[in-house]
Amino acid sequence: MGRGIPAVAVPVLWLFAAFLVSGAGSAPVEAQQPGGQEADDPVRELVSRLTLDEYKATLKGLTRFGDRRQGTQRNRDAVDWIEATLQDFGCTTTERVHYQYPPAGAQPRRSFADPLSPRPPPPPPNENTGTPTGGDVGRRGPGPGGSVIFGYRARTGVNRDPMAQPDERIRELNREEPVDGDRSQVFCTKVGATRPDEMYILGAHMDGHGVNEAVDDDGSGTALVMELARIFSSPDVETERSIRFVLWNNEETGLNGARAYVEQREALQGVEDPPGSGRYPEPGWLGMIQHDMMLWDHGAPGPDGRVSRDQRPEADVNIEFQSNAELATEAMELAFFFKAANEQYATDYPATVGPHMTNTDSTPFMHLTPAISLRENERGAQVGAGWNPNWHQPTDVWTTYTDDDFRLGLNAAQTTLAAIAQLVGATVER
Ligand SMILES: [Zn+2]
Repeated sequence: MGRGIPAVAVPVLWLFAAFLVSGAGSAPVEAQQPGGQEADDPVRELVSRLTLDEYKATLKGLTRFGDRRQGTQRNRDAVDWIEATLQDFGCTTTERVHYQYPPAGAQPRRSFADPLSPRPPPPPPNENTGTPTGGDVGRRGPGPGGSVIFGYRARTGVNRDPMAQPDERIRELNREEPVDGDRSQVFCTKVGATRPDEMYILGAHMDGHGVNEAVDDDGSGTALVMELARIFSSPDVETERSIRFVLWNNEETGLNGARAYVEQREALQGVEDPPGSGRYPEPGWLGMIQHDMMLWDHGAPGPDGRVSRDQRPEADVNIEFQSNAELATEAMELAFFFKAANEQYATDYPATVGPHMTNTDSTPFMHLTPAISLRENERGAQVGAGWNPNWHQPTDVWTTYTDDDFRLGLNAAQTTLAAIAQLVGATVER
């Protein structure tokens, strides 16, 4: 035994010393620059501008339009309100994408999100006992998007019965039934200072259904994207690359708004118009990040098919890519970049990465650009198994949620803001 430290132990000791310096539970070592420069971190400054009160106020503003179901006046009014609010927030470059629903010549779509589709077949009975308990229960069964569902599951579906809504005011708001025809959706853009020809797309869908206020699905994602538009549009914020904030319509009928965007704009990517102007109506797509249902993480249904009223202690933000996308590897790398941003900058909840993004507005993009979604739960195995009893139900209303739920949504906002600020090279003028 020599008295010196074996050479092989030195790196280990350095790591241990770094751990002591950083302190358990605080930000990673690299976030803490010598000399207290952390205070100058523009990402931390931008994240600090997100507040629970403002997130809730924007989300509450959306509830005045009921469930914002596509093809109704309340949906059109909501699009107008979103456009006016984005402009108030300083994101004055608003534009619309126009399209028809149903799409001309299209067969009726049969998607999981389409209420006209037949219900998915019931899962097999409990293999352990042979008897169903509570909801449709299996210890192991197929879920949407290639996922596998373990454990208890509760029924899911879409409420179409106005009388199922006990609140008369909310029932009245949602009285009008949809008609086929013209549709539009709104977006605005933060134009990059040095790379205006490249952008990340941040999305959420503003339409909902179920004779409710569509608070979680997807007022929660819509308000998140609008709050990020507000913060990045502040006059003291500059970004090298562009960011587009899109509030999709017709998600619930089969992602029709996002599909229309891809059909109309994919070929325009990176084209300067007019030539020599330095203007790019459709900057090249660097990635598409969707936010769909951000609030509710109360755990799995129990044997009786019921879900707890309380948030579960393990509540987290679920970041998902799609394992069979052509750009799955790039999307996975993007997802883990978001997870790292969460670890460094989110205040209350961790993030988890999973491979089954499945059915949301990022799906039409996933073979064309790295596409991920952020959610309250895994889309396939958890939302699909009935973890959210308010999904498309009369209970998706403001009074269902507590600040624990809203704060989970805020942490998803912190995660996306921190990741995107780094990816676009955001700086804050001092
Ligand atoms: Zn949704």
